[in-house]
This record gives sequence, C-alpha cells and structure tokens, in this order.
Amino acid sequence: MSNTPVENVVIVGTGCAGLTAAIYAARANLSPLVLEGQQPGGQLTTTSEVENFPGFPEGIDGYQLMDNLRKQATKFGTRFEQTLVQSVDFAANPRRLVCAERTVLAKTVIIATGASPRMTGVPGERELFGGKGVTTCATCDGAFYRGQEVAVIGGGDSAAEEALFLTRFASRIYLVHRRDALRASRIMAERATGHAKIQPVWNSVPVEVMGAAQGAVSGLKVRNAQSGVETVLPVKGVFVAIGHQPNTGPFAAALDVDDNGYFKPAAGSQVKTRVPGVYVAGDCADHIFRQAITAAGMGCQAAIEAERWLAEHGG
Ligand code: NAP
Repeated sequence: MSNTPVENVVIVGTGCAGLTAAIYAARANLSPLVLEGQQPGGQLTTTSEVENFPGFPEGIDGYQLMDNLRKQATKFGTRFEQTLVQSVDFAANPRRLVCAERTVLAKTVIIATGASPRMTGVPGERELFGGKGVTTCATCDGAFYRGQEVAVIGGGDSAAEEALFLTRFASRIYLVHRRDALRASRIMAERATGHAKIQPVWNSVPVEVMGAAQGAVSGLKVRNAQSGVETVLPVKGVFVAIGHQPNTGPFAAALDVDDNGYFKPAAGSQVKTRVPGVYVAGDCADHIFRQAITAAGMGCQAAIEAERWLAEHGG
C-alpha cells in the first residue's frame, strides 16, 4: 500500500460527464485517472444518431461522439483503467477506492457513474434496442418517428413526458401502463391523457416487442392484465420509460443519496458533496435533465472544483 501512488484526480465513469471532467482535468495538467466500468462510453453508446449535441449540425453517431471525447481526453494526458469500484473509504485521506484488482488512492474524486434505464425484459426488447426501434430516450430518438405510430411503456412522469414530447413527431402514441391511472404528477397526467395523439392502453403489460427476426420493430404485443386478451399495437418505435436506476451503489453509504438512490449534492452546488474533494456529475446526480450536454456541463463543473480544491490544498 505504501507504494501506491496518490492520484490528483480519479474520475469514475466514462460517459459524457466523466470524459468531460477528464478533458478539463487533463488540460489543467492534473493527469487524471479514469476508472471505466462495464459499459465504456455510457448510455450514449447505445443510441444511434445524436442530433441535439451542440456543434454537430449534421448529427453524430452516439458511439462516435463518445470515442471523440475519449480521444480528446487522452490527447491531454488522461489515463484509463478498466476496473469496477467495489467500495470506498471517504473518511480516509487520501480517499480510498477499493476496486476489484487493487485499491486506488486519490486526493480528489469525481463520480460520474450514470444511471441505467430499467427495462421490461420482454422478448425482442434487448434484440431491438439501440437504433432498431427500442429506445429509452424520446429527446434523443423521437425525431426518427415522424408520422409513425409508437408506444411508450410506463405510467410515471417520465412516460408522460416522453409521450408528450413524441406528439411533435409521431402520428399516434400508445401509452401502455400496467394500471388504470398514471403515477405521474396530476398536471403531467392530465396533459398526457388529454392529448389527442396520445391513446392510453390501460391495465396492460408488454409481452413481446415484435420484429426481432427482421431487425426492426414491427409491433408491440401487450396483454390486458384483467381480461388476459393479447393485442398487437402496430408501432415502429417502443419507448421504455419505467424509471432509471442510478449507479451509486458502492458510494451510497459514504455520500448523501435521495429516496431513489440519486446523489444529493451539497446545498448551493450541483456537484459538491458533503465530503471535501469528492464531486458527483451527470445522471447519477440528476434525474431531471439526463441529457448528454447537461452531464458534460456537470463534468466540467466537477473538474474545475477539483482543480480549485487541489490548488488550495496542495495538488
Ligand atoms: P417512476 O415514477 O418510478 O415511474 C415508473 C413507472 O413505470 C410507473 O408508472 C410504474 O408502474 C411503471 N413500471 C415500473 N416497472 C414496470 C414494469 N416492469 N413493467 C411495466 N411498467 C413498469 O419513474 P419515472 O417516471 O422515471 O420518474 C422518476 C422520478 O423522476 C420521479 O420522482 C418523477 O417524478 C421524476 N421525474 C420528474 C419529471 C418532471 O418533473 N418533469 C420528469 C421525469 C421524471 P406503477 O405506477 O404501477 O408503479
């Protein structure tokens, strides 16, 4: 342990937040170490075209965007290590991150571990995910369904919001919910159920996303939970909106998290935590915006905060 180097900045996660933090920290000559987990590049690598990231008027492939960010971070001296953080000791100085293979020591830590969309697990969903018709982000992919029929699965604020957003493009949106009342806030529920293009499909659970053999969604089979009757909704797109799971597990005991497991930043900051020198960024600390550009913004803030902390406390 005594020979273990103490890193200036350790960044956990390689989505938009983590890689933007790496670019900023590396350009500040801090030689950050990025720990990357099981899904290098994060959620954007599972979407197809990204049309709303500023600076790309023709759009950019999600995987390509993340590869660009990674190259940019590497160019300025970011180092990468593939490992999973299992637990942390943030009472220790330097901070300790216990990983599968070794323990990493750090003066400052930026946690940008993202959130994973919950999926229904029905047949066809995984096979058709990402550019083939199943998605978890209307803001990202809605524009591909202009004039077509789509389904949104879920009954919370996310599902209502996704359905309402899709009214700009789709000709009809089936809102498939397993009960007969939305969980969403009243105003969102009323807007969604009152919209002419949104057709609620109550008491219904998805059974199969159809089209796996053809490589494109051709319908969504749903079953009425009361009658048992199965119906095929003739949709080309399926938007799964049944919540997200923030990837905060190994850190949750050391930092503040809300009832849904998202990091709760310290008062007056989007990225500071109650532990000095430990910051959070991106979807693991944001259940509201969840956009690539907002995650990148938080990553930038976290890196600048880390840089300032090191300047004050000896970097
Ligand atoms: P959520 O509130 O947990 O809702 C998840 C929905 O998915 C529920 O309606 C649930 O059904 C349904 N569901 C869960 N598992 C399912 C399954 N296996 N099969 C079918 N349906 C399933 O999640 P969320 O909508 O993502 O919202 C998360 C948090 O963010 C909430 O606090 C929400 O208010 C907030 N949020 C706010 C806004 C906003 O204010 N604009 C926008 C988005 C999110 P049941 O209802 O039967 O449990």
